[in-house]
Amino acid sequence: MIEHVETPRKVVAITFDDGPNPVYTLKVLDIFEKIAGKVTFFMIGRHMEEHPEIVEAVKLQGHEIGNHTYSHARLTSLDEDDCLQEMERTDAMIAAMTGRKAVVFRPPYLDYNETVMSMCHHFGYKMIGALNTDALDWEQPGVDYIVQKTRNHIKNGSILLFHDGFGDRSQTIQAVKILVSELRLQGYEFVTISELLQLQTMD
Ligand SMILES: [Zn+2]
Repeated sequence: MIEHVETPRKVVAITFDDGPNPVYTLKVLDIFEKIAGKVTFFMIGRHMEEHPEIVEAVKLQGHEIGNHTYSHARLTSLDEDDCLQEMERTDAMIAAMTGRKAVVFRPPYLDYNETVMSMCHHFGYKMIGALNTDALDWEQPGVDYIVQKTRNHIKNGSILLFHDGFGDRSQTIQAVKILVSELRLQGYEFVTISELLQLQTMD
């Protein structure tokens, strides 16, 4: 699982899981449109079916869409067939709705096993984690908490995890606004996961 990338470039890849969501995904788009930054959304297929217009808005703004399964199942508790289904449905949906095949995957709960790894290989996915999992934005621990925990993980090539779906994400939105303005002052650029992987130092 890739949590960061070695690169001399001052870039970070910010990611948002569990959308698309008609409230919070649009707030995220607003933040990054203003600064022409790019991010990656790990979307749930079921939510894509409910909000195709949000998928379209994300696509139009040039962000990356990754696979986060169809129903947010804990894949390690499924047999191989069900695991395949969970990944396949969303893979097909992303291709149909965006015209581009997804190349990145994040397992729900960051929980994976051999089967999930071989599925990633089958679909040509890179499996993507994140460094700031201790920021716990999904538990709404407070804006300051999310900001401070995430700050500890900022370096060239960091992959950062937030959530734009399921429940009230207003703390996440506030925290991301603060972090983005700090990072801009420090000279960081915001790139998609695919862009970040291409900036990886090879030696
Ligand atoms: Zn999730």
